[in-house]
Amino acid sequence: MTTIKGASVRCENLQKAFGTVKAVDDVSFDISGGEFITLLGPSGSGKTTTLMMIAGFEVPTGGDILINDTSVATVQPRSRNIGMIFQNYALFPHMSVYQNVAFPLRMRGRDEEETRRRVRVALETVGLTGYDSRFPRQLSGGQQQRVAFARAIVFDAPLLLMDEPLGALDKQLRQKLQIEVKRIQRDLGVTVIYVTHDQEEALVMSDRVILMNEARIAQMGTPSDLYDRPVDSFVASFLGESNMLEGKIEQVSANEGSMMLNGNKMVGQLAGQFSAGDDALIVVRPEKMWFADDENDGRTNRLSGRVIEAIYVGDHHRVVVGLDGREPLIVKHPTQFGQRQVSPGETVELAWHPADTRILRAPVS
Ligand code: ATP
Repeated sequence: MTTIKGASVRCENLQKAFGTVKAVDDVSFDISGGEFITLLGPSGSGKTTTLMMIAGFEVPTGGDILINDTSVATVQPRSRNIGMIFQNYALFPHMSVYQNVAFPLRMRGRDEEETRRRVRVALETVGLTGYDSRFPRQLSGGQQQRVAFARAIVFDAPLLLMDEPLGALDKQLRQKLQIEVKRIQRDLGVTVIYVTHDQEEALVMSDRVILMNEARIAQMGTPSDLYDRPVDSFVASFLGESNMLEGKIEQVSANEGSMMLNGNKMVGQLAGQFSAGDDALIVVRPEKMWFADDENDGRTNRLSGRVIEAIYVGDHHRVVVGLDGREPLIVKHPTQFGQRQVSPGETVELAWHPADTRILRAPVS
């Protein structure tokens, strides 16, 4: 396996309109060479259109794309030297595995000896040594995707674009290939831009995630930036589960703020600028809450409620806790030996740390 210098990619105020539909609206980001970046977001948020513009299959209606600091506005797709694995970019059915993988090298006029050597290395990299003479119809879905991957890396492209490449596979195989694709990407040093609407896949594979919503970037950052420090309620609810509690800001100091909820003072980390009296949302992940037995010493946030349901789901109990005048909260309660059991109807004191509490701007309704 040879190491490649991964390409840097910069999108500057990228726009794409299809008639009156804004598919991509003022999207800017910077990707360093060798990064694994995922474009994540709901259906129709502009992920594929962004990828297609980088590939050169869609022409932007505004803005610019730079690969290795050079604008590719006038560069044809085939001259951009990008490897691609798209869900609808299938293998050539009438060609063997060898011919499929050799195809990009033939297009580039490489000689037979180099072609044979590169195809051998690419097939070895994806774990398909010995499959050269098979035809796509003689391969499983996972093997076909490995061939597509080999074809994308065979010419040492410094940039790979992938659009839901594992979307058609079952969950177990998908998880196995996620780890493999990530390992190969790291070993090769290639830059990857990967489109998915599967948030778990994005968190597992990416160095950074670009979360899109309605043609714009909602947040760009590491998986833990997005999960632990969401900038708004869209991000908090798109990635994982969140409990959200509405209220008004009481006090603000540096990065922390406090709010009163059901007569209790809550302290949390502020996402942005706030002033006393502002409407805000407290966001807490269900796995950060526990059932407290001790007296409140003022160091944790507390709310009392009544257990509505406690459902056993293997690695945790999913406990629904009703609150006075508010939406019920979800608590993921560990199942290990010695943990307190809770039952429907029981009154409980919920606790969680200010460090696990995010205060966001209330969405404009
Ligand atoms: P999905 O996860 O469903 O693939 P996506 O986030 O990749 O969605 P895009 O395919 O980029 O979203 O589409 C963004 C918006 O642009 C959508 O509203 C879509 O209907 C629209 N759109 C995309 N391609 C075209 C086209 N060729 N003509 C008209 N509208 C289009």
